[in-house]
Amino acid sequence: MRPNPGRIERNIEELGRIGKVGETGVSRLTFTKDDLAGREYMIEEMRRAGLEVTIDPVGNIFGKRVELTEDPSLPSVMVGSHIDTPLVGGKYDGVVGVIGGLEVVRMLNDERMKTRHPIEVVIFAGEELTRFGSSFKGSLPVVGSCTEKLLKEVWVDKQGVSYWDTLASVGLKPEEFEKAKRSPESIKCYFEMHIEQGPVLEDIGKSVGVVSAIAGATRGWATIKGLPNHSGAFPMRLRKDALAAASEIVLEMEAAARREAHLGTVGTIGDLVVKPGVMNIIPGEVTMSLEVRGVDIPSKNRVLEDLRRKFSEVAASRNMDIQYHYNNLGDDDPFVLDGELRAFLEESAKQEGIDYIVMPSGAGHDAMFMTRITRVAMLFVPSVAGKSHVPEEFTETKDLVLGTSVLAGAVLKMARSR
Ligand SMILES: [Zn+2]
Repeated sequence: MRPNPGRIERNIEELGRIGKVGETGVSRLTFTKDDLAGREYMIEEMRRAGLEVTIDPVGNIFGKRVELTEDPSLPSVMVGSHIDTPLVGGKYDGVVGVIGGLEVVRMLNDERMKTRHPIEVVIFAGEELTRFGSSFKGSLPVVGSCTEKLLKEVWVDKQGVSYWDTLASVGLKPEEFEKAKRSPESIKCYFEMHIEQGPVLEDIGKSVGVVSAIAGATRGWATIKGLPNHSGAFPMRLRKDALAAASEIVLEMEAAARREAHLGTVGTIGDLVVKPGVMNIIPGEVTMSLEVRGVDIPSKNRVLEDLRRKFSEVAASRNMDIQYHYNNLGDDDPFVLDGELRAFLEESAKQEGIDYIVMPSGAGHDAMFMTRITRVAMLFVPSVAGKSHVPEEFTETKDLVLGTSVLAGAVLKMARSR
């Protein structure tokens, strides 16, 4: 049983032409015209592979293998990812997990191979954050962690259109979002293959990473209030420059996270809004994002503690008002993946003679929420130069084939076992 490289490549290229930007870029923002066209393409491919396709009230797509399944009423072995993209991404993020899952089905079909449990390929809707400012909008309802408030008030795009209204406008049924929840009894386990989105695999020359845990993120905002005065007339000694204060925080975030780098912790201040933002006025207010991620809780907490200390120090030494909230945008512990499923992935790699490493995931994935209702495992394939969420995103077909081989071995094992 071997993945078919031509089949995988054809899917990647054909889907990559939908929403194409420039040479290699792709833009399929959640539930835009191009995202809808991409979904239609994949539904057609699922049907061609003999899968029974259903779409839940919030737009998640499920393709179930029924025909060659001994008992289709048993819990499914689920495999998949997402196909929506950031503003301009590439052809691989998310896509490789969906096409890899579909390829596993086609490999089994090629051999007319039966399984005891059904295999279900899933395409989660709305995984990317770009359009509605929040990620995982398909998987959260599936695990029962969605609310009307999220759908109507929190997930809103820049034009003020809510996710709720968007779902309704494309013929879905947001009012039935609670029906999207899958019972733990309907799923045996969930596998997700994804591009690494970092440089590690390429750097050490391995084709597959078996994921041990997914980092949890603690996110929040800080606002630093200074005095906006004339940059020419106001003397240095009397200034309260909010951007100068914010700069100290930015540097401390970097230093604190570097002290914990050996444990895989990372810290980022990715967004600064400076007011009034005028060349000849001293910055009067800065709003900044705060994000710390890691798979080691004490390590993550040390970075947060160092930042807290720095906030007080800067507030005192500059006599300024600083307000900060760490957890208002989420505070997730690391998501632990299933040890036995992980062992099956490793076993599968060994059987195929594929060199792999075990590694954590720094980025978040639908897989982390699936841990709330079922056993979950994940694997990575290399991202050339560590690039993702950009048009240059690239994974070689040979690595997609190796990743799919490893995935197929573990999926088959689970789908056959009791
Ligand atoms: Zn992704």
